[in-house]
Amino acid sequence: MADFSSQSVLSRRSLLAGFAAVPALTATVEPGAAQTAANSTAAQQVQSALKEAKGTKLVMLGTAAGPVPGRSRKMTSHLMLSNGAAYVLDCGLGVTDRFAETGVAFSALRSIFITHHHFDHNVEYGPLLSIGWVQGMPLSVRAYGPPPLKQMTSDYIRSMRTTIDFWAEDLKMKALEVIDVTEVSGAGPVMQDDNVRVSSVVVEHPPVKPALGYRFDFNDRSIAFSGDTTPIEAVAHLATGADILVHEAMYVPAVETYVKAQVAKGRPVSVEAFMAHMRADHSPVEDVGRIAEEAGVKTLVLSHLTPAIDSITDDTWRAPAAKYFKGEIVVAKDLMVL
Ligand SMILES: [Zn+2]
Ligand SMILES: [Zn+2]
Repeated sequence: MADFSSQSVLSRRSLLAGFAAVPALTATVEPGAAQTAANSTAAQQVQSALKEAKGTKLVMLGTAAGPVPGRSRKMTSHLMLSNGAAYVLDCGLGVTDRFAETGVAFSALRSIFITHHHFDHNVEYGPLLSIGWVQGMPLSVRAYGPPPLKQMTSDYIRSMRTTIDFWAEDLKMKALEVIDVTEVSGAGPVMQDDNVRVSSVVVEHPPVKPALGYRFDFNDRSIAFSGDTTPIEAVAHLATGADILVHEAMYVPAVETYVKAQVAKGRPVSVEAFMAHMRADHSPVEDVGRIAEEAGVKTLVLSHLTPAIDSITDDTWRAPAAKYFKGEIVVAKDLMVL
């Protein structure tokens, strides 16, 4: 740090001056400018839907299950927007880009919630904090999730210390030092602010302990999330009378076909072990219909789709749940606004 040569200082300055001269890059220092995303139709649609929105909105950011890259659906994440405040639930790979695509300013980000510690729910938690910080996320942002979320947060920030300090020095920003983290280990109230009251339940997703479901009671709407779980009573109880239940969903015949194809390609798992894991950890879509009917929700959103294969039609997803649930059933897609 002490031996910055005048030349390297000069080159850093010219580099910054260069940034300022290129309009596209000014987004780097202007919070909330999602310019690169404006080209995508889905991004345009979500941005205009949110612009016209009255009341609390849920945006499905990522709707695929599992730590699998390269799909059109990103790993699991959600954004709730209420009175200009943004709440993110889960941080699978893709959450930061998807958040930017909504056009919501990073300065609106108030709280982040994690359901459980699987990659498809937490892997981009740290990057959301650091890129969010660069883009104007308030340092008062709070995070909630199962232990060891405090340790994970401080370990991540420590691992990025050098980069954070370079950026803070260059742009004269207050450095990202600590985030207020509340660890959630069981069922009960999680937090409350002027927009929302959040509560949790423990769900069944071995060997992950605890794995959580959450319910968000906003002033105008209630939204419950199963997290990753087998079909259980606790989720029906959590979601009782909610406007929306977002439940994970698995279409078993397609999972079996998909796994067999993966194994044939050399993925190092056995079909039997994989299917046993799926049955012990996830919810067949017909059972999701039962849970939603029991809870008496208005709208059931099928998400965290297993397998997240685009060739499975919405009707194929919907039909098994519709045998039991008579309300509205929505098959989630990335950037869908509800
Ligand atoms: Zn998952
Ligand atoms: Zn999981």
